[in-house]
Amino acid sequence: MQPTRWSTLFFPTSSGATHKKTGTDWLLSSGYLTRVDRGVYGWLPLGQRVVGAMDHLTRTTAERLGYSEMGLPLLQPLVVWEASDRYEQLGDLLTRVPMKAGEYVLNSTQEEVVEMVLASHGNFAGARLFQLSDRVRNELRPAHGLTRSLTFKLAEWYCFAESNEAIRKELVVLRTELASALERLGLATTYVQHRERLDLTSVAVTSTADVRQFRYSICTGCTYTFRPELEVCPQCGGRCEVTAAVEAADVFARAAVGALRGHRYVGAGLGVYRTISLVAENLANGIRLCWPRAICPFDVNMIVGDNGAVESEQVARHLSAAGHSVIIDDRPLRFGRKLFDAKCLAAPLEIIFKPDGRVELNDRVHDKATVVAGGAAEAAVRILEEQ
Ligand SMILES: [Zn+2]
Repeated sequence: MQPTRWSTLFFPTSSGATHKKTGTDWLLSSGYLTRVDRGVYGWLPLGQRVVGAMDHLTRTTAERLGYSEMGLPLLQPLVVWEASDRYEQLGDLLTRVPMKAGEYVLNSTQEEVVEMVLASHGNFAGARLFQLSDRVRNELRPAHGLTRSLTFKLAEWYCFAESNEAIRKELVVLRTELASALERLGLATTYVQHRERLDLTSVAVTSTADVRQFRYSICTGCTYTFRPELEVCPQCGGRCEVTAAVEAADVFARAAVGALRGHRYVGAGLGVYRTISLVAENLANGIRLCWPRAICPFDVNMIVGDNGAVESEQVARHLSAAGHSVIIDDRPLRFGRKLFDAKCLAAPLEIIFKPDGRVELNDRVHDKATVVAGGAAEAAVRILEEQ
């Protein structure tokens, strides 16, 4: 792996943004995200690295549980939806696209297509499938930035278990795995049970910026956490408080329709962009972003002052060879500007090559600074290992 150079990167940070609140605000002002239209976003190079790391994290979760990845198309034939029990339910949230070859729908969810594909190939018992793709939702009012945008990326798991017992077991396995993946990113999760659909559980994450996309009830007596919003607990009769958060993932059992009618299966989805936004927002410390190692754009950011060029190149080669992703700020800019941009990049380890020859290592995970006069590469490796 070669170190990346800031001079080649497109990373437009904005120093004027002092009122950062939501994750989307943080990502826009820190040079990760760009707004293409209302509710439509694009990822800039640094943001795309975070997306890539999130993709990897969801794929790893799928592999560990024995799910194989498949690629499903953005276009779905309208007839597949007309045959579905959810056609009426989703209504105008479906994005219909008239094309020369016929009527299509832009992917809003893949269950209908997965069922069609499996039915056409016969033997699917026991199949565990994973897919990761962009979705389109025909919202009139996109809101909360990446949390409710018109296009978004979803990681999805489908398990065609052979018995009700196996389905119940898989629901718990997926729920636990997705919640623990979110917890590893530093997010606190809550399971929310849906009373109208007992086989549906949402994994909610609190928003520090108070993004209220998903409302639910918590019983002050027995702590039962559920939807819909009720004042009285249906389990113990206690008083409930209604709270709001963001639904980062959901896990459900579904009765198939069409050719697979009669079969039930387990599905789960995790919002990739939404999760990145929640991490940016919840882990930011007021003045800077703080990425966890699992999805940081770079492990190490090197800020080089006058006279530090030779040593920084040596340290960069050493760390790259050890498998760490490194970026070197080689731009001919003032030191202050580089330090500001370092806050936006938010690497877990920052190495500052000072003009007096000393090297400062900032461990951003443990919020600890060390200054060394030699052996910077070895000191950096030790810090990265401890993170
Ligand atoms: Zn209760």
